[in-house]
Parts: sequence; structure tokens; C-alpha cells
Amino acid sequence: MKPKHIELRSDTFTKPGPGMLAAMQQAETGDDVFGEDPTVNRLEAYVSELFGMEAALFCPSGTMTNQIAIRCHTRPGDEVICDSLAHVYIYEGGGMASNSQAQARPLVAARGLLHAAQVEAAINPDDIHKAPTRLVCLENTSNRGGGSCYTQEAMDSIAAVCQRNNLALHLDGARIFNAIVAKGEDPLYYGRTFDSISVCLSKGLGAPVGSVLLGKRDWIKQARRIRKMFGGGMRQAGFLAAAGLYALENNVERLREDHRHAAMLAETLQELPWVAAVHAPETNIVLFDLPAGLHSSHFTAQLAAHGLRAGATGPSQIRFVTHLDVSQEQVETACRLLKEIPISS
Ligand SMILES: *Cc1c(COP(=O)(O)O)cnc(C)c1O
Repeated sequence: MKPKHIELRSDTFTKPGPGMLAAMQQAETGDDVFGEDPTVNRLEAYVSELFGMEAALFCPSGTMTNQIAIRCHTRPGDEVICDSLAHVYIYEGGGMASNSQAQARPLVAARGLLHAAQVEAAINPDDIHKAPTRLVCLENTSNRGGGSCYTQEAMDSIAAVCQRNNLALHLDGARIFNAIVAKGEDPLYYGRTFDSISVCLSKGLGAPVGSVLLGKRDWIKQARRIRKMFGGGMRQAGFLAAAGLYALENNVERLREDHRHAAMLAETLQELPWVAAVHAPETNIVLFDLPAGLHSSHFTAQLAAHGLRAGATGPSQIRFVTHLDVSQEQVETACRLLKEIPISS
């Protein structure tokens, strides 16, 4: 069936194809709250082995894996260092405050990527006036940074700051495989560097639901308790875990295509008169700015009228996200439409 529109709002719009659906249908299941779902157990073993971490926990969403991680790493009143545009800070409904009674210390950084020096400078001294700094959260790739990637040198430096100051280091790896594929990295690097990692299966990997939280065995045992308390204990979750396993086995390498498609869109945008600036894409996200006088909501409505769906990330900023369900042909069509649609301010 030919899709009615080209969906560039988010990589969360992907739907399971026939292969994934067959894998889901054939999944062997049990009650995962009892630890008896063989497919969930297989997924958890697969991801922990891939990253070289001791244990894993399958959860309904990336918000939940991040929130469980924050809860497990902190105590009420603690401070969490993150980027000012981090998902854990701006897109999780105030969960850090509500679920963990922790407060964020948001830092402003170019492309959503923190530097070791600014992290170190933000650590509170041992002073009764100050919240105890306990945790640093990095996001790789950075969503609001435009799918930007940390270098391993930058992550190593931040990890060293955490080690010297006895802070935990969590990775929001909602799009970690985009970074791994784009930079030719080894997932084991991340297992060595971070105390905990959240991996999304339902972004560009194409699973309908699910994220995996990784950490040390005892820590994941505590995380499992928190997951139950948050209402995230699922029963025959093997049907969903099967989708995740299928995604990991089939859809990682192809993320390269999404990156190529993002580059094609960026190249087209560079030439257009109604684009003020294009942020050079590193992975599957293209951010671009509109000129003064053209509001993002008015702009996206004009694209949508021609079957092109884009998201606004601010009054003058637009986001395109490429993914499994945007074909090469659709990207070519999108590039043609961008040149043809008469945009008015
Ligand atoms: C999508 C996303 C998440 C998790 O979102 P859910 O919709 O809860 O799965 C976490 N972090 C980042 C950076 C994301 O883009």
C-alpha cells in the first residue's frame, strides 16, 4: 500500500513489517514478572552481551528506562547534571523531580554535547547549602542537538571527571546505534565507559515498543524492583521482545541509509531561499532554521498540505528525521517537493 504522506516528524513512526510481525507471532512467551518469559530473557542477554554489561532490563519506554536509572542512581535532594535540552530534563514530564525528588543542573552546550570542564565546574562542593551532585546524564546521539555524536575522547574525559568525583554516569542511548554506525564504534566501548545505558528499540530500529536498561547485576536487580513500582512489569512481553530482537538483528546496519537520506535532505535545504541555516547532520536528524517572519507552525502546515510531515522544535526551527519507513524514493520526492512548494511567510 502506498503511503499517503512522507513522515519526517520522528523515527518513532515506524511500523513493524512482515518479518518483524512474523517474529512476534512466533515468539515463545511466559510471565516476565516471574522472570519466565524466554524471549524477554533472550533479549536481555543479547543486549547486555552486545554492550559487555552484566545485566539488562526490558521496559516499555525510553522514558521509563531513564527514569528508573535516575531513581536508582540518586537519593531525594540530589542533583543531576545534564544538557539543558536533554530528554531527561525537557521531555519526561518533570519525572526527575516527581519520581526521584532529584533536581536537574542543566548546562548549555553546543549541539547538546557537554564538555568535561563544564561538568567538573558544575559539581557542587560539600556544603550544606548545596544539593549533592550524584549523577551525570549524557545523550548520544543528542536529539535536540540535531542527532549529534560525542567523540570517545569527550566521553572518556567526562567519565574521568565522574570517577574522580564519585559520580554515576548514565547514557540516554535512545539513538545509540545511530552513533555506533555513524562513527564505526564498538558497543563494548559504551559498556566500559558508562554505569548504566538506556537503549531504545522503538526509534530507528523499528520495533513498536520497548527500551532496554543496562547496568551491573545488583543495580539491575534494584532497577527491576523500581520498574514494578512504576507499573512497568509486563507479563507476556516476549511478543514485544521478539520485535526488539528482530530489530537488533536486522535493522542496525541499515541506519546508514537513514544517515545518507538525512544528508540528501540537508543538501537540498542548503539551496533554498526560505532556509536561514542548516545544521550539518551527523546521523538521521536534520535541523534547520527559518528566516525572521516565517513561523514554524505556518511553515509545517504548508509542507503538510503537500504530504510532507515535519516537526517544529521551536518558533523558527524545523526538524526532519529519517527512518526505516522513509524510502529512498520518498526522500527524492521530498527533495523535489521542497524545491517546488511555494512557501509564503
Ligand atoms: C525518544 C527518546 C527517549 C525515550 O522516549 P520514549 O518515547 O519514552 O521511548 C529518550 N531519550 C531520547 C533522547 C529520545 O529521543
